[in-house]
Amino acid sequence: MIKLFQYNSRFQYKETIQKINSRRNELQNYTDTLLKKQTEKLQNRIKESNIKDVNIMIEAFATMKEAIFRSTGLTLFDVQLIGSITLNSGNIAEMKTGEGKTLVALLPAYLHSLTNKGVHIITVNDYLAARDSELAKKIFAYLNINIGVITQTTTNEKRKKEYQNHITYITNSELGFDYLKDNMAIHKNNIAQRKFYYAIIDEVDSILIDEARTPLIISGTAKIQKNFYQDACKISNNLRKDKDYSVDEKSKSIILTNNGISRCEEILQIDNLYDIRSPWIKYIINALKAKELFIQNRDYIIKDNKITIVDEFTGRIMIGRRWSEGLHQAVEAKENVNIEAENKVLASITYQNLFLLYNKLSGMTGTAKTEEAEFINIYKMNVINIPTNKKCLRKDLADLVYKNEYIKWQAIATECLDMYTIGRPTLIGTTSIKQSELLSSMLTELKVPHNLLNAKPENVTKESNIILEAGRYQTITIATNMAGRGTDIILGGNPKNLAAKEIEKYIKNKYNKRNNLSNTQIKTIINYVQSSNNHLENMQDTFKNVKHLTLIYNNIQTKYNRKCKIEKEQILKLGGLYVIGTERHESRRIDNQLRGRSGRQGDRGASRFFLSLQDNLFRVFGGNRIETVINKLNIDNNTPIESILLTKSLNSAQKKVEAYFYDIRKQLFEYDEVIHSQRKAIYNERKKILNCAFNRDCIMEYGEQTIQEMLNIYNQDNKEIYNLEKIIKLLNLKINKQEMYKMNEKEVKTYLNEQFRISYDMKEMYLEQLRPGLIRQLEKYYLLQQIDKAWQEHIDKMNLLKEYIGWRSYGQQDPVLEYKNEAFNLFINMITYIRQTVIYLIMRSRLIVDI
Ligand code: ADP
Ligand code: MG
Repeated sequence: MIKLFQYNSRFQYKETIQKINSRRNELQNYTDTLLKKQTEKLQNRIKESNIKDVNIMIEAFATMKEAIFRSTGLTLFDVQLIGSITLNSGNIAEMKTGEGKTLVALLPAYLHSLTNKGVHIITVNDYLAARDSELAKKIFAYLNINIGVITQTTTNEKRKKEYQNHITYITNSELGFDYLKDNMAIHKNNIAQRKFYYAIIDEVDSILIDEARTPLIISGTAKIQKNFYQDACKISNNLRKDKDYSVDEKSKSIILTNNGISRCEEILQIDNLYDIRSPWIKYIINALKAKELFIQNRDYIIKDNKITIVDEFTGRIMIGRRWSEGLHQAVEAKENVNIEAENKVLASITYQNLFLLYNKLSGMTGTAKTEEAEFINIYKMNVINIPTNKKCLRKDLADLVYKNEYIKWQAIATECLDMYTIGRPTLIGTTSIKQSELLSSMLTELKVPHNLLNAKPENVTKESNIILEAGRYQTITIATNMAGRGTDIILGGNPKNLAAKEIEKYIKNKYNKRNNLSNTQIKTIINYVQSSNNHLENMQDTFKNVKHLTLIYNNIQTKYNRKCKIEKEQILKLGGLYVIGTERHESRRIDNQLRGRSGRQGDRGASRFFLSLQDNLFRVFGGNRIETVINKLNIDNNTPIESILLTKSLNSAQKKVEAYFYDIRKQLFEYDEVIHSQRKAIYNERKKILNCAFNRDCIMEYGEQTIQEMLNIYNQDNKEIYNLEKIIKLLNLKINKQEMYKMNEKEVKTYLNEQFRISYDMKEMYLEQLRPGLIRQLEKYYLLQQIDKAWQEHIDKMNLLKEYIGWRSYGQQDPVLEYKNEAFNLFINMITYIRQTVIYLIMRSRLIVDI
């Protein structure tokens, strides 16, 4: 099946690839200046034709291929071009680790940058955004294309400028937060982003699948009652598992038994724990959850006296995220750290809907095929499997299953010792920090030197450097799944990296005594001496001895090239990089990610998973079947089991987990979709007001709609006098209502509209006299203020609604449908409310203006 497809994708694009390559051959004769002109030429061609024109794509890709060659000395492989074409068509390119996806993204990015609408390249962390943008800057200097980069440390003032560049590198979370912040801006100068146009998401599965389970939230703080959390914590410690409450690990829920309920009531000296007026139940359930279901170093770590969430399956630390509905505070109480204020959601969006805002979306990763259905259903992206440049020689060995965890870890440690003894580089992937620390201490006992990485954000740079060296002789590396993501393991070490380190040392120790260069300058020099084909700028004007340094660097590089090559040969003889998995992950995709670290670019390699019957996957999702198997097999402790029956139930357990999480994401998406269309409507209205210098029309419209809405009520109530009075009062009109009783409905409406207009004109004239322009500011202020206030209240109500729906949803009704209906009503109410309060406020505002 796969073979056929590989053949197809090569075949399908054969002609296009040939055209790109032959055009690139011509471009090789261009001078740098002429190559640079390509950008302008292509920009003009796009204006005349359009970006979908295949010939323009071919020209742009050929230009890019040449620019990459001139700046880095690398020649793109044909499979990389296929990857670029895939991205350009708005799909996902599945390309294995080490196939060179960083460069693949540059081609469609270049083509789309020519329209000057802003291309975003999304990465999973700041380190990668910085690393890749630096490379892109170097390459795009040949083509007059500007590269921007935004990381956590980028100031608000700078962000706007960075977004204005042709291409901007940014992490998913920075992008999302900027989007939300922009839609809370009170002045249009504070808006940083342009309209979303085209995005290429690197490690797309990580962002659109793994991260998509929790929405991005901007929150303000609300008051909390710290002692409630502390007291509830004490009570929870007084309750006994299975007697006073039961725990459901799978759905992460706690149920109090009758016994437990009376115990709580006794301690608290209250009659009814479930009385709506008593706040306790929520606190107690959360405290019990904190006690039973949330474990330090698995679900969270304590860092700087703060509880920081760890993603259960990926081991990734989620800085700044907090569990909602008081759970975070309950964990804080349990750990006796400062209890932080409860958050009130001011704005939120899911990654699904954030990325759907783009005109065109594409992504790349080593592992996406298993989640293809989700990518198609939610994002309308197909997953195209791109063949590797060289055949993959990695051997994925059969799983070994041990009876219990202890024996499993011992077996893993022994395996590491064996590998260390023969010198074969080994990478062990763990699912949690706790486990990686456990293995680390076992290895220390066995006197096996090793590196331990656990994906803490502050270590990303350091970890990436360690991962870069994880393919060297006798190197044992323990890593949680996310550690060093995006960095590729090169057998025998990366000569360029090693040489860079040595020349840096040299410059700092010897050369810098006289010159006193800054770190940035040193970096520039290293970049310069590293590029084999640099005719861009004459560095010698700036740094006199750069020629001398280039010579020294070349010597060092040659030395390392040789050294690394010899080391690589040696490692290949040992079988290449050996990857050990210590637990099956939430999905096959993540297992594959780990395996994919080995066997890059046609290297030999192997992978094996060591499992135990006590692993999470078996325990939580395995069901009874596993137990039956064990009892039947009657095995002794130390021999691993290799049974077809076991593998089968293992796979089905894993599929269950995959389905379980997909459901969660799908549900989140379905619910968010409802609020998303509302969010879009509100944000649009807001943006319109923010960008408009003359919002009088908007006020007039709101006024007329308000009148109409009131009249509808008035009509239903059969011309009740009370309502007319209310309208007049609300609009603060000075009119004679007796006259109105003679009119028919239409006349009343026209009359009210007229009076409203006159009254507003008078107000405007009056204010203009006092201070010109004030009325326009007031209009904008009231509109934005009321929209924001109402929207935040609306979010609260929607969250509550979702919870209620969750409680109600048994029986035949479709909860999502019910949610939609009620959400719609809430939304209409909110809009009406906004209009009415704005009109009310502006018509009744009496200003005392000091001039
Ligand atoms: P991926 O993101 O697919 O895992 P990277 O983009 O990190 O891979 O590239 C892995 C390594 O391969 C990098 O060192 C890069 O310089 C190198 N590389 C990429 N393309 C080529 C090429 N055409 N020829 C040689 N080396 C390449
Ligand atoms: Mg990559």
